[in-house]
Amino acid sequence: MPIVPDTLSLIGHTPLVRLKGPSAEAGAHIFGKCEFANPGASVKDRAALSIVEEAERQGALQPGGTIVEGTAGNTGIGLALVANAKGYRTIIVMPETQSREKMDTLRALGAELVLVAAAPYSSPCHFVHTSRRIAEETPGAIWANQFDNIANRRAHITGTAEEIWTQMEGRIDGFTCAAGTGGTLAGVGMGLKAHDESVVIALTDPHGAALFNYYEHGELKAEGSSVAEGIGQGRITANLEGAPIDTQFRVGDDEGYYWVRRLLDEEGLCLGLSSGINVAGAVALARRLGEGSRVATILCDTGFRYLSTLHNPSWRQEKGLVEPAFPRGG
Ligand code: PMP
Repeated sequence: MPIVPDTLSLIGHTPLVRLKGPSAEAGAHIFGKCEFANPGASVKDRAALSIVEEAERQGALQPGGTIVEGTAGNTGIGLALVANAKGYRTIIVMPETQSREKMDTLRALGAELVLVAAAPYSSPCHFVHTSRRIAEETPGAIWANQFDNIANRRAHITGTAEEIWTQMEGRIDGFTCAAGTGGTLAGVGMGLKAHDESVVIALTDPHGAALFNYYEHGELKAEGSSVAEGIGQGRITANLEGAPIDTQFRVGDDEGYYWVRRLLDEEGLCLGLSSGINVAGAVALARRLGEGSRVATILCDTGFRYLSTLHNPSWRQEKGLVEPAFPRGG
């Protein structure tokens, strides 16, 4: 691997790993895109860099300016590291329900943190609306607007999708992941379809999100709930508009955690719950596509971000997550 000139050059170009357990279970080849290998340890570094560079190109972000965003945490971490590397300030608005590790990481990066109570999107107190107001009231600030700013999905069309296509040497039958903003799903879907229209793009939706019903029946309707951070969308964001979704799966937290634990115990990979849900979706897609099929998904962020939550037995018990029946240690 060559020496890279600066930290921002570390964003993207992540490895793709064949996941042994999921592949064996599906009788197929399942590959995980290691987004935890980004410098901010999540897939959102890509969107953060793309959004900041677009704002610079448009002249909206000037030297010494401020970046404001509402985020479940990972986008904030990505924006803060990009801002530090480029000399901007960051103000991050996040729901107080997010993991402690994300808040501490944001503080360590020097971001100004505004914590708000969880509120529905229709409420003016929702973290997204709060962040827009702060951006409007702060001189020299831009609102990153990850949900409806398509610089987000462009990072996945030109980056993530191209990398997956090259890494898999064009031999890919399907791709699936869950949606937060939908930037990853739409962008990778569009990028892969541009190479080969027959690659099947599937949404993997957690409980509590409305997209499964939308793509299945045309109705935005949520059922149940999920403790997964960073995923679970209730509307068609600008990033999701025109996403080439061929099929959809719904995956519960228990099934997602089952895969988190198997990957941890059997393959030494420490991930968050959205990655486990993605892997469950990839197993379902590979089974549908048939024996020997080749399916890729996203390993969204590092599990070290959830030591106080998902990887803490008392937190899991409190949330009612089912402990997998297989013995610890594989
Ligand atoms: N997993 C995690 C942990 C995330 O933070 C996010 C981003 N919100 C996603 C998945 C989903 O990514 P996207 O916003 O591109 O849909």
